[in-house]
Amino acid sequence: MEPILLYDTTLRDGTQGENISFSADEKVKIAERLDDMGIHYIEGGWPGSNPKDIQFFDMAGRAKFKQARLAAFGATRKPGIAPEDDANLKALLETRQIGPIRITMIKPALDSLERIMGRLQETEPDIYASIGTAGALCVRLIRGSSSSISNHSWGTAVDLKLEGRLDGFGDGSTQFGLLIIAELFNEEGWFWGATYSREDSMHFEVGVETLRSWASAGLND
Ligand SMILES: [Zn+2]
Repeated sequence: MEPILLYDTTLRDGTQGENISFSADEKVKIAERLDDMGIHYIEGGWPGSNPKDIQFFDMAGRAKFKQARLAAFGATRKPGIAPEDDANLKALLETRQIGPIRITMIKPALDSLERIMGRLQETEPDIYASIGTAGALCVRLIRGSSSSISNHSWGTAVDLKLEGRLDGFGDGSTQFGLLIIAELFNEEGWFWGATYSREDSMHFEVGVETLRSWASAGLND
């Protein structure tokens, strides 16, 4: 049976009622109670919308939860403002130049990618120089699926190309350089799309266990 996961929005939607106003400290206490109740995901607020929510995420990031993971509410593009100028979006993500590629992901994924690219530059400078990206952050479903959400939607996956060429999707073969890169990604706890039932060799994504370890270290907040 598929496990049922609980996502609680008390600290975001629940604070929009009349006469309700929690301090950051009170929100942390409520989050701890929700964790005690067995909630899996606690939506803590909207970082960037007000200083109190930024303070909450800062405090809650250091709290120890049993199983709950913190989630942040955010918004996609708004009329009249470009996404790159939107402070709310910026609070959630970062765009960074890492060697030859410029990429937008969650911050700990960028740190991890920096380590991977650093090792690649040392060991395989030719492959390093030929790397390009076909994109990372993109809110969409998995290719060929009508229900499964792609990890590209939350900034934990990246598509890479070599010498400007994309690896053919689902053709059962893989560019040789990607094989070498994949080892470095594996060492950092990422999965490689070439091992999926529908081979997707250009795709690398942060493994669930890796995300959990980042979360418990407070890196995802
Ligand atoms: Zn991909």
